Amino acid sequence: MNLCVLGAQWGDEGKGKIVDLLTPHFNVVARYQGGHNAGHTVYVAGRKFVLHLIPSGILHPGVVCFIGNGVVVDPQALFAEVDELAGMGFDVAGRLYVSDKAHLILPYHRELDILSEARRGERKIGTTSRGIGPAYEDKIGRRGVRVGDLRDTSPDGPLVGAVRENVDARNRLVGNSDMKWQDVVADLRTAWTRLEPLVADVSLRLGQSMAAGQRIMFEGAQGTLLDIDHGTYPYVTSSNAVAGGACTGLGIGPKAIGAVLGVAKAYTTRVGEGPLPTELHGAMGERLRESGQEYGASTGRPRRCGWYDAVAVRYAVRINGLDALALTKLDVLDGMGSLDICTGYRCGGEVLTDMPGDTAQLAACEPIYETLPGWTQPTRGVTRYGDLPVEARAYIRRLEDVSGVPAAVVSTGSERDHTIIRDDSVAAGWFR
Ligand code: GDP
Repeated sequence: MNLCVLGAQWGDEGKGKIVDLLTPHFNVVARYQGGHNAGHTVYVAGRKFVLHLIPSGILHPGVVCFIGNGVVVDPQALFAEVDELAGMGFDVAGRLYVSDKAHLILPYHRELDILSEARRGERKIGTTSRGIGPAYEDKIGRRGVRVGDLRDTSPDGPLVGAVRENVDARNRLVGNSDMKWQDVVADLRTAWTRLEPLVADVSLRLGQSMAAGQRIMFEGAQGTLLDIDHGTYPYVTSSNAVAGGACTGLGIGPKAIGAVLGVAKAYTTRVGEGPLPTELHGAMGERLRESGQEYGASTGRPRRCGWYDAVAVRYAVRINGLDALALTKLDVLDGMGSLDICTGYRCGGEVLTDMPGDTAQLAACEPIYETLPGWTQPTRGVTRYGDLPVEARAYIRRLEDVSGVPAAVVSTGSERDHTIIRDDSVAAGWFR
């Protein structure tokens, strides 16, 4: 059965670790959206790998990885990641492919990203300034350049025409810019020599894999609450991080997704701007940030931290059709005297149990908490559910109740083997 693994909160839930952990049960891992703004951190035998664009499954020799059409690709970022992996002993040749329909991030996208954030001032989104949003804007604006367009090597063909038009338009917008389209084209020609062997019709290849009975994991980046349509707009990413994004971002039908696993932290974090109802501003927030090492994998930015928000996770369950959760970073809560769980919001005299669609309304919501006792015995590295302190099991049970799905996987540390896979859960069959 094919499995979609995605973020059930505001991103940084630990998807990298979970995808890496589950990869041995799959033949293929395919990433369906986002760009190198994602940062998936994986620890294997004490070694740290941060993957931005390449699916986390690449750390398993023999597994084939695809970057789908829904992803935006900065060729230099891709090559840097390939080189870094090679330096660590992972050869990607013959096991990494990029869709010819994926859109390219070009140098003017990075500049436009920085410019647009500066222009927004106080209303800035908090982007990673890597050109991802502007590349998606060009895609939707039907003026983007796709990986497959680089096949056109004629001096005055459509590729040169598109780049020239885009660079000219950007120079007009920026005013004092002197970017030359000839330089951009020259860089693209150089990039093509390295990109060409990686290019594939990803939809076709995935269809062939399925026909051959292979198992595929679809990997999301960012998180449900950062989805362009279903997240806290406009404080969102520029693509569909939800399960539906796997269909459009890879060219597969919805029935190809056999099950959906949502990755959620045992508390909540968010990076960048936008509402976060359970945010903790004082010493408790600081404590979560320090013990959880909540600093962005891509940018190093400190993450905003708060209690587990079951309203947000229930929403993720509905939007994605989640079958189960992979609950991560339980160990970060070790030693907390008590733990709050947000089960609803109080908003303008009303009690809400469903996520409001309006971002301003969400920003005005106050969390309604219930409080559970914490635990003193460490959970870090625990691999059997029964070995967890009784309070930790009660906490997980309550999270399952208020979220509406079971926690099939519980992560108790950043290493692969710091994990509990619950044999009695809905997900047990996925891992056989
Ligand atoms: P992703 O983008 O969703 O893959 O998440 P990030 O890589 O940005 O952030 C997750 C961080 O938490 C990484 O540094 C992981 O190594 C770490 N991590 C994942 N699971 C656990 C866990 O159960 N406990 C602890 N302490 N760290 C974890």
